[in-house]
Amino acid sequence: MQSKRFRLDRFLIKNMQLSNRDIRSLLAQQKIILDQKPAINMHQSVDEYTQVTVDGQVIYANKPSYIKLHKPKGCVSATKDNTHKTVIDLLPLNSPDNLHIAGRLDFNSTGLILLTNDGRWSRKLSLPESDIKKRYRVTLDKPIYQEVIDIFATGIYFSFENITTLPATLISIDKNTVEVILKEGKYHQIKRMFGHFQIEVLTLHRLSIGRIYLDKDLLESQSRNLTACEVTEIFN
Ligand code: URA
Repeated sequence: MQSKRFRLDRFLIKNMQLSNRDIRSLLAQQKIILDQKPAINMHQSVDEYTQVTVDGQVIYANKPSYIKLHKPKGCVSATKDNTHKTVIDLLPLNSPDNLHIAGRLDFNSTGLILLTNDGRWSRKLSLPESDIKKRYRVTLDKPIYQEVIDIFATGIYFSFENITTLPATLISIDKNTVEVILKEGKYHQIKRMFGHFQIEVLTLHRLSIGRIYLDKDLLESQSRNLTACEVTEIFN
């Protein structure tokens, strides 16, 4: 999802009714600050989430929204669907209408879903160099064995996409329950990785994305805004 970009002078004329002359004067006095740095010229570009401060006053084009949701079974990770309930249908009515999903879950998977209207943030989440790990609790129709753990750690070839999965961690919890830690999110990835060993996934629940956890008191279908700390700490 692309963030909208604006030229600084157009943004200030529209939002503050300043003239070009006012803008030149404010620039010369270093009174226009973009994300904590003085603006250099009026043709600089800003986007929806740049914090623009003019003579000490903060002006946003758009206030970003970051939401965590506890996805229940039987709901689609999409913004629209003609047949089924979507994760968007579960949000309070006053939620922003331009949200997108940062990392989908399958129809019958449950757990943590993040939604935002900040395209820069969600893009950064998906970059391999951000190294955001996703943790899942998975129940299986049969127990795992050492070879499954070893092959998860080295990677499994998916011929359809012609890729090998990145090293993943597989931890045995009890006879038929495991935790899986992934650094990526390919289509039906966990089901296909276990499918490689003819092991069927019975339930799949996402516990965390980076440092953002599914809180114990966030019940199925409930959502809440991320704290400022969660929004930034996810990358640490
Ligand atoms: N892997 C899957 O197979 N399904 C999910 O919902 C998430 C990861």
